[in-house]
Amino acid sequence: MPHSITRENFDQWMLPVYAPAPFIPVRGEGSRLWDQDGKEYIDFAGGIAVNALGHAHPALCQALSEQAARFWHTGNGYTNEPALRLAKKLIDATFADRVFFCNSGAEANEAALKLARKYAHDLFGPQKSGIVAFKNAFHGRTLFTVSAGGQPAYSQDFAPLPPDISHAQYNNLESARALINDNTCAVIVEPMQGEGGVVPADVEFLQGLRALCDSHNALLIFDEVQTGVGRTGELYACMHYGVMPDALTTAKALGGGFPVAAMLTREKFARVMTVGTHGTTYGGNPLASAVAGAVLDIVNTREMLDGVKQRHQWFTEQLQAINARCDLFAEIRGLGLLIGCELMPQYAGKAKQIAQLAAAEGVMVLIAGANVMRFAPALNISEDEVSRGLARFTAACDKFVAGCTS
Ligand SMILES: *Cc1c(COP(=O)(O)O)cnc(C)c1O
Repeated sequence: MPHSITRENFDQWMLPVYAPAPFIPVRGEGSRLWDQDGKEYIDFAGGIAVNALGHAHPALCQALSEQAARFWHTGNGYTNEPALRLAKKLIDATFADRVFFCNSGAEANEAALKLARKYAHDLFGPQKSGIVAFKNAFHGRTLFTVSAGGQPAYSQDFAPLPPDISHAQYNNLESARALINDNTCAVIVEPMQGEGGVVPADVEFLQGLRALCDSHNALLIFDEVQTGVGRTGELYACMHYGVMPDALTTAKALGGGFPVAAMLTREKFARVMTVGTHGTTYGGNPLASAVAGAVLDIVNTREMLDGVKQRHQWFTEQLQAINARCDLFAEIRGLGLLIGCELMPQYAGKAKQIAQLAAAEGVMVLIAGANVMRFAPALNISEDEVSRGLARFTAACDKFVAGCTS
C-alpha cells in the first residue's frame, strides 16, 4: 500500500536546511527503530546523542503521561513542582547553586554567554566583553552561538555578526593564552568537541583554561550539550577531567528526546541576573521537567555510568576488529558512548557515504564532519544490539571498501 506521507514531501514542504535519510522512521523501542516499510534499524545515532535511554522507555513514557494528565504549561509567572525538583537534582549532582531552564542547547549557551557579559559589565565595566572560543567548536545556531562556534561556514553568510568573539586552537593552551586577557569575560569550550570530530580535550588544556579564567576574572563555560547526562561515563564530562566550570550548559540527553535544556552556574554569577534580565516562555515547562527528572534518576547512578564505560569497550574492541579487516580508520577515539572513527586519508570526505551504506544495511550511524564516523547510541543499549548493529556496520564497510577498490 502506498504511504500517504512520503520522503518526497520533505523536499516539497520543508525549508531545505536538512538532507534527511531516504526512509521515514515511524516507531521505536529501545535501540531499534522501524521505518514505514517495517524495515528494522539498530540505532547507533541516538537522535544525535539525545535518546539517552533509547526509544519509548517505560519510565519516561510514564513520567510524560502522568504529567500530561495534570497540566502542561503555565508560563514563568508561576513556578511548578517538576521544574523545582529537577533543579534540585541538578544542583545536588553538580558544582552548581542555580539553574536556568530553556529548550535547546543553543539557548542554554546563549544564556551562559549573556550571563558572562552581564557579570563582567556589572562588576568590571563595558570594556570587559571579550569571548574566547575555539576553532571547530559547535555551540548552536542562534546568531550569538553560531558566532562563538568555530566553523565560519555556519556564520559568515549571516553577517554582521556579534563582535568581540575570538577563536583559539582547540587543545592548544598557548593559542588560548594569547587571546585571554583582562577584557575577556568568558571562555567557552566543549570538554570533548562533538560536531567538530569527536575530539576529547587534554586534561592539561582544561586545567590551563581554568587557571587563565581565574587570573583574568573570566567565566569558564563548559558546553556539555553533547557530552552531558552520562554520555562519557560520568554525569558530566568535567567530572571525568576533575575541572569545574563557572557555568555549564546541558541539553540533548537531558530530556531523553523531549526538548529541554539548562544552564547551571554558581550563586556569585547568578546574582547579576535579576528579574526581567533574561527569560524564555517554555523554560521549566512541567512536561519537559517531569521527563528530565526521570532521565536523571535513571542515568545518575554508578551502575548506569559504569555501564557506559563497559559499552565503550564493546564498541572500541569491535571497531578495532572491523579496522583490522578493512583498514578504514586512522584513529578510533572518544569517551564513553561518544565515539569517533577518523577515516584514513585516502577515504577523506566519504563519511556520509559510509553512513548511507550503513542505513541500507539496517544500522543508523552519525558523522562528525566529512571525515569522522560518529557513534552516540542510547546509554542502555544491549550487548546484543551493539554486536548486531556492528555486524551490519561491518557489511557496510566491506561494501564501501569494495566500491573504492573496484
Ligand atoms: C547540539 C549542540 C549544541 C546545540 O544544541 P541545540 O539543541 O541544537 O540548539 C550546542 N553545543 C553542542 C556541543 C552541541 O553538540
